[in-house]
Amino acid sequence: MTSPQHPGAPALTVVVPMFDEQDVLPLFVQRLRAVLDGVGLDYEVLVVDDGSTDATPVLLARERHTWPQLRVVRLRANAGHQAAISAGLERARGELVVTIDADLQDPPELIADMVRLAREEALDVVYAVRDDRSADTRFKRVTAGGYYDTMRRLGADHGPANAGDFRLMTRATVDAVTALPEHHRVLRLVVPSLGFPSGVLTYRRDERAAGRSKYPLSSMVRLALDSITGASIAPLRLATWLGFIGAAVALGLLVYALVGYAVGLTVPGWTSTFMVVTAVGGVQLLCLGILGEYVGRTYTMQLGRPTYYVAHDSLTGEDPPD
Ligand code: UDP
Ligand code: MG
Repeated sequence: MTSPQHPGAPALTVVVPMFDEQDVLPLFVQRLRAVLDGVGLDYEVLVVDDGSTDATPVLLARERHTWPQLRVVRLRANAGHQAAISAGLERARGELVVTIDADLQDPPELIADMVRLAREEALDVVYAVRDDRSADTRFKRVTAGGYYDTMRRLGADHGPANAGDFRLMTRATVDAVTALPEHHRVLRLVVPSLGFPSGVLTYRRDERAAGRSKYPLSSMVRLALDSITGASIAPLRLATWLGFIGAAVALGLLVYALVGYAVGLTVPGWTSTFMVVTAVGGVQLLCLGILGEYVGRTYTMQLGRPTYYVAHDSLTGEDPPD
């Protein structure tokens, strides 16, 4: 299975986004290598070093001495989880491509099953679904539940719930995804929306093996906003509905004011005035904010700026800095 676009391409590419993962890296390499050496396919591991500032690049360079299949693409600056995966997908050469986190929350052992399932059932996508998140924090579980629930309500065809970014894709799928013009793509929504034949494998989400989560609340909020604005214009409709409701209420208040004027009850009313002014102000700001999200998204798409910059790729021969 050699891809026509990439002569000499491996059968399997494993894309790993990594940001400051010095603590978990040795463990991860050990477990991943044991799995991949046993799969019986010729493979490459494409680590996207997302602008790490700790010893990650040095450790990666060291691993490369003993692991020829390890390829490192270093980004110039931290671009974020989704952009790092996109960078990996755009450079992956394999006929099959698996994306996996570096922190061992996604068990590498599942890759062998994913490959088997994809081949046996001729699938384009295999999702790994976390059926047990008891190892995640309560906060993470609640916010993740809310996220998947909201996306379902918005009608975003996001595939199986709780499928994160641990998945296998065929070359055709990867090419379809990378050809999309969207820059801030949320892969867990974009891939299912293609509607390619897919299968599901379940697994238990382990705890992070070492190091700390690189997903602060601000990144989670950004992911949620990108997901919503990228998947649906329902919030814009909500703004329209709020406008309708506001107009109806205003009409009622107008009648009330006129009647009050007619019967001479015009002086009291500080409370109601205050409430109306603040409520209308709040709703207006909310609607402006919603509108702004979409305008902003259109604007960044128009700019067409890349979401990441590559500093070097070990495949093309440049020396990594150590
Ligand atoms: N990651 C990345 N860039 C970032 C943040 C995270 O490449 O800006 C990587 C990180 O190294 C890990 C994966 O994305 O391999 C998932 O991050 P993390 O485990 O911290 O997220 P969580 O599991 O807490 O949601
Ligand atoms: Mg994690």
